[in-house]
Amino acid sequence: MTSTHRAPTEAVAGASSPVDAAVAVIGAGPVGLAAAARLLEQALEPVVFERGDRAGAAVASWGHVRLFSRWSELIDPAARRLLSGRGWVEPDADHYPTGAEWADEYLRPLAEALGDRVHYETTVTGVARKGRDRVVDSGREGQPFTVHVRHADGRTSRVTAGAVVDASGTWTHPNPLGSDGYPADGEHEPAIAARVSYRVPDVSAARDVARFGGRRTAVVGAGHSALTALVALATLAEQEPGTKAVWVLRRGAVGSAYGGGDADQLPARGALGLRARDAVAAGLVEVVTGFRTLAVEHVAEGSLALVSEEGRRIDGLDEVVGLTGFRPDHSIMAELRLRLDARLEAPLGLAPLIDPNVHSCGTVYPHGAGELAHDEQGVYVVGMKAYGRAPTFLALTGYEQVRSVAAALAGDHEAAARVELTLPETGVCGGAGLFDEPAVTRADADGEGAVGGCCAPAVPQLVRIGASTGSGGACGPVGC
Ligand SMILES: Cc1cc2nc3c(=O)[nH]c(=O)nc-3n(C[C@H](O)[C@H](O)[C@H](O)COP(=O)(O)OP(=O)(O)OC[C@H]3O[C@@H](n4cnc5c(N)ncnc54)[C@H](O)[C@@H]3O)c2cc1C
Repeated sequence: MTSTHRAPTEAVAGASSPVDAAVAVIGAGPVGLAAAARLLEQALEPVVFERGDRAGAAVASWGHVRLFSRWSELIDPAARRLLSGRGWVEPDADHYPTGAEWADEYLRPLAEALGDRVHYETTVTGVARKGRDRVVDSGREGQPFTVHVRHADGRTSRVTAGAVVDASGTWTHPNPLGSDGYPADGEHEPAIAARVSYRVPDVSAARDVARFGGRRTAVVGAGHSALTALVALATLAEQEPGTKAVWVLRRGAVGSAYGGGDADQLPARGALGLRARDAVAAGLVEVVTGFRTLAVEHVAEGSLALVSEEGRRIDGLDEVVGLTGFRPDHSIMAELRLRLDARLEAPLGLAPLIDPNVHSCGTVYPHGAGELAHDEQGVYVVGMKAYGRAPTFLALTGYEQVRSVAAALAGDHEAAARVELTLPETGVCGGAGLFDEPAVTRADADGEGAVGGCCAPAVPQLVRIGASTGSGGACGPVGC
């Protein structure tokens, strides 16, 4: 943070002040590190701020979970180029790593290759235009960004940058249990909160074996993490008799929550859904549908109960695992002028492509700097956070985002607009708990889908979009 670079004028229109870094990247997760690798290829010097004490801190938090993506879908091309020739051994392309393997075998070597550009235990607390709060127009566009950071010892400092790429993810902001988006009554009361968690149990760890073994656990949610938790608890039941799970869904029927099954273009994810279905069939998992959580109660003999908006109860619970998705926290950008969609809290140009209210299946649309742009030029929210509350993010999409963003920041608008990407269908349908009134998905209602796997047998989609065309150019298998 001591060297002084001058940001290219393309990075921020009209910028002329000396800055500490051409581009500040927030977060050393998969997408933040890929952004840094791409920026280097564009001759833009990045500085990366990471809250954790190592790269991939969020991924490592769910390190026991096996990904549904293969290595071939988890390595950014620019990162591969940076790593090659440094003694890095690329993992087997067809293997499905755990989160821990993704962090250890790829993210940490990548961060090491980026060297002292990555600053650990450095939390970004705010970003602004230098000397200008959100209200001030005068001279705004010509000012670099000021990035406020807090260090591990509590010291604070500020760094100037010509542009900012926010890849800080959503991991620390899980959705609460309440179906209206607020915590359910009682959820945060200490005696109850100690028995409510928001992560997939690690049944290979003694701590979680003790916590969930022989107990009855409600798993709330319909996405990949909920399926993983159900399969984990069913596995634990084999060694710890009496282990039971109750799968709590807002939607009226399980239907597409099992994913795309054999037709899922992400085979590991399809297989997970089939294993969850087997666990239900074997009686290890009880299914409760049409349940909108209102309250968590502490009842007699120390058990917990979930209470729905309609007064239905699920009694006799020992633990509750909430896996209802994540939401972004944009507070660090409060002094900038972001254009965010009112539903998803995603960039306005991206939201129509990923809104699960509109797209019944979790088809992933490639997109670039155009869709991610804000009124405030030179600032981009990318990666998991760019998807806001939408449940269908894939690392592959994030890598394409930062390829385009780095090109745009370097002033290569043609390259930024030339986004070409083959993406799979994800088999995630209404993963944020949408489609909870009808028994099945919107596609089902329209007669286009089938219960138990709304995604039609998938065909890889080569989609070309123009970064400045908004949603116009991006059409996927379920529509545009
Ligand atoms: C259980 C689970 C399984 C998943 N499986 C897959 C899969 O199989 N395939 C797939 O493509 N995707 C999968 N995902 C999605 C996955 O999270 C993303 O692909 C990937 O982790 C997103 O990368 P990211 O860099 O956007 O965010 P993150 O991985 O969340 O990284 C963000 C980083 O920013 C840091 N940070 C946060 N706030 C600050 C701050 N204020 N200042 C500084 N640093 C900060 C965090 O510590 C973190 O290191 C899965 C997600 C989960 C939760």
